[in-house]
Amino acid sequence: MRMTAGGVLSLFNGKDGEWDAEVVEAGKRGGILVCRAQTRPLQLPPDLWLLFAPIKKARTDFIVEKAVEMGAARVLPVQTDYTNADRIRGDRLQAHAVEAAEQCGGTFVPEVAPLERLSKLIDKWDPARRIMMCDEAEVGQPLSQGSDNGPTVGAVEGPWAILIGPEGGFSPAERSRLRALSFVQVTSLGPRILRADTAAVAALTLWQLQNGDWR
Ligand code: SAH
Repeated sequence: MRMTAGGVLSLFNGKDGEWDAEVVEAGKRGGILVCRAQTRPLQLPPDLWLLFAPIKKARTDFIVEKAVEMGAARVLPVQTDYTNADRIRGDRLQAHAVEAAEQCGGTFVPEVAPLERLSKLIDKWDPARRIMMCDEAEVGQPLSQGSDNGPTVGAVEGPWAILIGPEGGFSPAERSRLRALSFVQVTSLGPRILRADTAAVAALTLWQLQNGDWR
């Protein structure tokens, strides 16, 4: 950043809020910053995870960036039956998350978890965390009818996760397994099929409005 001794910048580490820090030593390869005063407290997002099937690189980056801006606490790329990607660049996605937090004035950076098979994740899922499954099979259903156990999406307090499928959608086997689980609430995202990246933002908006820190 080409700063020299005496300069002041904002620092955050995801744990201690935001601080004004003074450059006390600036070298070519490193330097020393001293935190002087806290400028903002740590602002944690609600306990909401975003599970999504990675798609093309730029769109996957977009999903991670938007998840941070929208206030997800953890981002979990999952491999579903119809997911094409078998690898993700975790370090790259995590760097995107940091950048997005900086850009939107956040003081918390969600963890981007390693890619995992959705079926494995569900095997060990804590049933206390409800899943808002955005299922394209519900396209056109009113919101209130897509759910098994609540009048509107996300209207139950507690930890949640949003699940967005890949471009190819969910497989019949996945759909029937997920729908049978008591902690899964199926929802529609309106009368049009959305691309996965749009669906992620729409679902985060819906959940935040209903259950999150927008209220
Ligand atoms: N190829 C599929 C669409 C997949 S869209 C088809 O043509 O049916 C990618 C993901 O976005 C879906 O798996 C779902 O999680 C979400 N999605 C998109 N539109 C949706 C809608 N109208 N309702 C619920 N989920 C939707």
